[in-house]
Amino acid sequence: MEPKFKPATLCVQAGWTPKKGEPRVLPIYQSTTFKYETSEQMARLFDLEDSGYFYTRLQNPTNDAVAAKIAALEGGVAGMLTSSGQAASFYSIFNICSAGDHFVSASTIYGGTFNLFGVTMQKLGIEVTFVDQDAPAEEIARAFRPNTKALFAETISNPGLSILDIEKMAGIAHEHGVPLIVDNTFATPINCRPFEWGADIVIHSTTKYMDGHATSVGGVIVDSGNFDWDAHADKFPGLTTPDESYHGLTYTKSFGKGAYITKATAQLMRDLGSIQSPQNAFLLNLGLETLHLRVPRHCENAQKVAEYLAASDEVAWVNYCGLPGNKYYELGRKYLPNGSCGVVTFGLKGGRDRSIRFMDNLRLAAIVTHVADARTSVLHPASHTHRQLSDEQLVAAGVAPDLIRFSVGIEDAGDIIADIEQALAR
Ligand SMILES: *Cc1c(COP(=O)(O)O)cnc(C)c1O
Repeated sequence: MEPKFKPATLCVQAGWTPKKGEPRVLPIYQSTTFKYETSEQMARLFDLEDSGYFYTRLQNPTNDAVAAKIAALEGGVAGMLTSSGQAASFYSIFNICSAGDHFVSASTIYGGTFNLFGVTMQKLGIEVTFVDQDAPAEEIARAFRPNTKALFAETISNPGLSILDIEKMAGIAHEHGVPLIVDNTFATPINCRPFEWGADIVIHSTTKYMDGHATSVGGVIVDSGNFDWDAHADKFPGLTTPDESYHGLTYTKSFGKGAYITKATAQLMRDLGSIQSPQNAFLLNLGLETLHLRVPRHCENAQKVAEYLAASDEVAWVNYCGLPGNKYYELGRKYLPNGSCGVVTFGLKGGRDRSIRFMDNLRLAAIVTHVADARTSVLHPASHTHRQLSDEQLVAAGVAPDLIRFSVGIEDAGDIIADIEQALAR
């Protein structure tokens, strides 16, 4: 697919370009394995001397077509689907960090990522320092050490809805010779393409807007191809020195701009195996075909809901960067000029207990552990997704105890607002 196409065209057609007589629709390659004519052909694949498919734990054509579509949407050089967003976050760091290494992450990130970084990765000997992404660059820079290998943050944080100053963060990362990895789940490439602002690697939980219909858990990692690993070769030996598990091949030498994704596929997928099922990749692709239509509608509806909440006497506070006066209004205008996302957070007068009672009274909006779905859904992070966090960690993650995460769907905005109205009245 030519890169000159606009996002709407890429959503519908990128990744799969059938040749004569081939299926118009992306086929599901429901096969664990692939056939070769000679033993030698297969051996060359195992040595990464030829590219091709041999076992679906590493690569599958359906997955690769969908990863290529997302890479095209983000403006990257290569992508890899993973079984979940969690796997994508983990691999994005683990691909360049090993025991004894350190990375820096914004503290306002998804609760699952916070646990992964702060607890599980510690057990692997990889340390993280959480920083306030809104702090001045000099302050964030103080978190860096000689063994720091990456900076991680979310474009729009879940559920704090902080908007990332991507240029500032990219500047800090590059000054320290490390890549900026951005979780772009909430913005999607329809509203923001972090590579255009200096980010080096993007990850997504495709479970959210990309699938959009709450059918399939999945993730993706996309590489911009812009980070010069060889310029910081001592920091990234996994990419710049021979890999003994592939007869001494060096990823940056053999694969150039494809080095990072090839290593993630050839090493991490091979050894850890968090591949997305081709069936789920097919469903994800169906979601992607309408991403450019759904995302603007989510944003339009969310703006109306946010404005309704802001005007209501029952509401203590509302957080949505589309509201003038919001802390992130200006950053939103810069990085997300066409809209941010469908998620609005707010608290009710009466605090945590009232917020919980309000949720119980909603009829159209469902209480589900989900967000960024075509259906309006609602969650109380302090009781649900962020339950493991201490009060102090909740504050650092931008989660107030009374915070209601309201994920506005693509139903009729008037019906969504009427549902809120009746639940507030009861
Ligand atoms: C949901 C989510 C994740 C985790 O993704 P899963 O697909 O649930 O594993 C990561 N980051 C963000 C911003 C999310 O919303």
